[in-house]
Amino acid sequence: MPQKTKNTPMMEQYLSIKEQYRDAFLFYRLGDFYELFFDDALKVAQLLELTLTSRNKNAEDPIPMCGVPYHAATNYIDILVEQGYKVAICEQVEDPKTTKGMVKREVIQLVTPGTLMEGKGVSAKENNFLTALAFDNQQYGLSYVDLTTGELCSTTLEDEDSVLNEASALQTKEIVLTDDKIPDSLKETLKNRLGVVFSTQEDDQTNAELEFLTDGLSAELEKKVTSKLLRYLLLTQKRSLDHIQKAQSYEVDHYLKMDHYSKANLELSQSIRTGKKHGTLLWLLDETKTAMGGRLLKQWLDRPLIQKSAILKRQDQLASLLQAFFEREDLKQALTKVYDLERLAGRVAFGNVNGRDLLQLKTSLEQVPAIRSILEGIDQGEWVETLKGMEPMEDLVQLIEQAINEEAPIAVTEGNVIKDGFNEQLDKYREAMRNGKQWIAELETKERNKTGIKNLKVGYNRVFGYYIEITRANLANLEEGRYERKQTLANAERFITPELKELEKQILEAEEKSVDLEYELFLDVRKKVKQAIDRLQYLAKMISTTDVLQSFAVISERYQYVRPELSDDKTLDIVEGRHPVVEKVLGAQEYIPNSIQMDQETLVLLITGPNMSGKSTYMRQLALTVILAQMGCFVPAQSAVMPIFDRIFTRIGASDDLIAGQSTFMVEMMEANQALSHATANSLVLFDELGRGTATYDGMALAQAIIEYIHQHVGAKTLFSTHYHELTVLQDELTQLKNIHVGAVEKNGDLVFLHKMMDGPADKSYGIHVAKIAGLPEELLDRADVILQALEKGKTLQNQSIPKEAEGVEENIGQSQQLSLFNEDSETASTIVKELQSLDVMDMTPLDALNKLYELKQSA
Ligand code: ADP
Repeated sequence: MPQKTKNTPMMEQYLSIKEQYRDAFLFYRLGDFYELFFDDALKVAQLLELTLTSRNKNAEDPIPMCGVPYHAATNYIDILVEQGYKVAICEQVEDPKTTKGMVKREVIQLVTPGTLMEGKGVSAKENNFLTALAFDNQQYGLSYVDLTTGELCSTTLEDEDSVLNEASALQTKEIVLTDDKIPDSLKETLKNRLGVVFSTQEDDQTNAELEFLTDGLSAELEKKVTSKLLRYLLLTQKRSLDHIQKAQSYEVDHYLKMDHYSKANLELSQSIRTGKKHGTLLWLLDETKTAMGGRLLKQWLDRPLIQKSAILKRQDQLASLLQAFFEREDLKQALTKVYDLERLAGRVAFGNVNGRDLLQLKTSLEQVPAIRSILEGIDQGEWVETLKGMEPMEDLVQLIEQAINEEAPIAVTEGNVIKDGFNEQLDKYREAMRNGKQWIAELETKERNKTGIKNLKVGYNRVFGYYIEITRANLANLEEGRYERKQTLANAERFITPELKELEKQILEAEEKSVDLEYELFLDVRKKVKQAIDRLQYLAKMISTTDVLQSFAVISERYQYVRPELSDDKTLDIVEGRHPVVEKVLGAQEYIPNSIQMDQETLVLLITGPNMSGKSTYMRQLALTVILAQMGCFVPAQSAVMPIFDRIFTRIGASDDLIAGQSTFMVEMMEANQALSHATANSLVLFDELGRGTATYDGMALAQAIIEYIHQHVGAKTLFSTHYHELTVLQDELTQLKNIHVGAVEKNGDLVFLHKMMDGPADKSYGIHVAKIAGLPEELLDRADVILQALEKGKTLQNQSIPKEAEGVEENIGQSQQLSLFNEDSETASTIVKELQSLDVMDMTPLDALNKLYELKQSA
């Protein structure tokens, strides 16, 4: 930065403002532009592809500068904020015309990823949550707000994992750190995994006018973090926040818990491959007709219920909708016409609502009586509460109806917003404007008659105002002295007369005054709407609840879901269940239904079967069915009895955690540990091929030990799939374990998967068949067959004696190089094994691997 002494007063002002917004780009208003200087200019010029210039080109060290026109600034700001940057908008807060010297400037708003109100970064069906964190006494206070809808919630969390899970479920883009005690490790994880931007708000000042919003919070830590979050909003947004709702405290333990690995693995709202909604459970379920319904659905999906009465209530409401087919069609129609009441309310408070928004509000409110009467028609007591909040708000409808012009433009300051007949004075001005047109027409006729020029006309343009236009050929017919020249065109001259001047004054005055008055009237209407924000927000909640339930009804009917019965004794009995998303993708014909039966006593289902036979689909099917049931939706099955689970743990399929720098096996073990240490007797644990990431015996031993541990200490219902057939003998030892397998048949030497679960262990490994289908050489396959038979003959495996099998078969297969690898007496072999274990396969190129293999072969 240049020496301060050299700076002009303007640069001084710039620098002192920039000093307060070091982590944001400062958009500094200069005339019709926002300008950026120094490093801001260098970076922004690159990010937005703007031309980089400099302020004082001839100086020794010119100041880099770039700018955007103020009227197009919103787009540019949106682009920067979407990329995770913050933008401080600095305006002239005095009128330059009436100020001597430097015009005062202030930052009027700090736009950040978590406080975006509109634009591409704010999608209709997603919330934009800004989160705040505090840490005290080994606990985390977490608070979040959606500035667009006004929702404000807080909770207390016990550990870093829980914070990560919550932040990930909220899909938060920005986290406000409210003290300096948040551990760096947590910040790192949040940044790496979720890509959040951090902001800080550490001062302890309260916000008198917003403090009441935290009244309902009893935990000190939650009060503190929420209060600081509100302070951050006030300081950055610097405007009315009347739409922020009273903070609600919630406990994560009151909902079905899933860590973010599980949510990702199960593809609840984001596909693992694409990161998009397509192909997820949310995608399947979303038949909502309103944006608010779409957002609420996502919230229900993130927090399925665990309270039986609450689930039953949703089921009852859904059942009543399902019985009312025709009414449901009308309901959909009405909902389609309901705009985003929550965000409209937000914009009313924020002060950026326009005439069209108010018309949308009116249209939305006009649907309420219809929605009410449909629900009243089908209500047998299930809808009482929802109906209570469904107020049509006729006062608002009437106000908007009377005040707002149906063709209101986007701008609120240029007139045409207020209807005729709403305000007497405005009508008078408008009369003058309309008369003005008449006056002008009369003047034109008069002038034509007087001058005898037929094509004389009176026109108007923004720069010169009203004029009389006369073509060059007719100029000679003009009376001297009365016409004052204003503008010369190629073929014509434009003039003004005293009479026209006077008319112009009257017309323009009426116009100006009417525009000002209209704006005032509009603000007045907006104020009245603002007073109704609480009621609007409550109505919005009731309508979005109705919308989500009608979406459940559409899905349940379309795919023939059934109402699950909630068991109190841990019985799980799903008859002919289906995986909701795979079924949709494959089509109902293609999908083979499967039952899952685990009585009170059964804890572990050990699933064996070849690769690609459907083991993990079966497990996911159960998880998704549980989630659907606990959201209050019906489930894809012929019938279903299921307990209410408190948590779901999964270790299924490939995880994308490799990018976070952990090996697959490490992630596997971490997830297993999560489950083993946190699962209760009411949890559901899904382990798919656990242990496959390490050496065979290692993996098998771990798998067995984990199963035994769950069986003896955890007691959670567990599905465990494995291709270690050796584990199926566990059924003899563990009374609460049941073997099932996926059926497959051989047809003409080929393998056909039935995707059908059957009782008992799989009797054969189909690996060699799969290898055959994959086209491996005949000779190799024959050899594998011999080895397999030898292994099977020599099989002496018991639960605790895993590594012994190789010894018994050694003779039969004599020269087999591969098997001798397992002979631990051989020194070379053990060196090679060690060497192999030390390899980081994920880090090798195919060529590296080939070279290594060659090298090992040489040393054998
Ligand atoms: P595994 O876990 O045994 O390797 P997957 O569960 O990944 O097998 O299933 C393999 C493929 O089989 C999936 O792509 C899926 O499309 C298909 N599949 C699985 N279960 C079924 C089923 N019940 N009906 C029809 N197709 C299925």
